[in-house]
Amino acid sequence: MSTNTAADTSIDLPTKFRSAGLRFTKQRCLIAEHLFSGGHRHIDAAMLYSELLANGKHLSLATIYNALRDFEQHNLIRRIAVSADKVWYDTDIGDHRHFYVPTENRIMDCPDQKLSLAKFADPPDGYQVTSIDIVVHLAPKN
Ligand SMILES: [Zn+2]
Repeated sequence: MSTNTAADTSIDLPTKFRSAGLRFTKQRCLIAEHLFSGGHRHIDAAMLYSELLANGKHLSLATIYNALRDFEQHNLIRRIAVSADKVWYDTDIGDHRHFYVPTENRIMDCPDQKLSLAKFADPPDGYQVTSIDIVVHLAPKN
């Protein structure tokens, strides 16, 4: 399993794309520049769309969904599915756990990441753990 790899703000995107085997198109470049310039972050497609628009970059939501899917498939970002219809993306692709607060539309890293994920799930013979997604759902106390 990989270790935590927090996003670098001085990232060389063309090199990052080349080593991931992904073509560096103009639209992917615009999206990646915005996505990776903010350091480690969690974002969904609609938030990214709004932020790009606020920065004068009008891309269709479909283009953003496609780019996020491509980035995820090439291990540039990590996909966090919190429900059947809600997906977040994390610029930290290392194994770590999340808290999700649906009422605040917010996801955050669990502060205590010391629990060994490898001990959490002992795979059956012939299998290996490739990733573990743990999302703890929260609601504000009444
Ligand atoms: Zn995270």
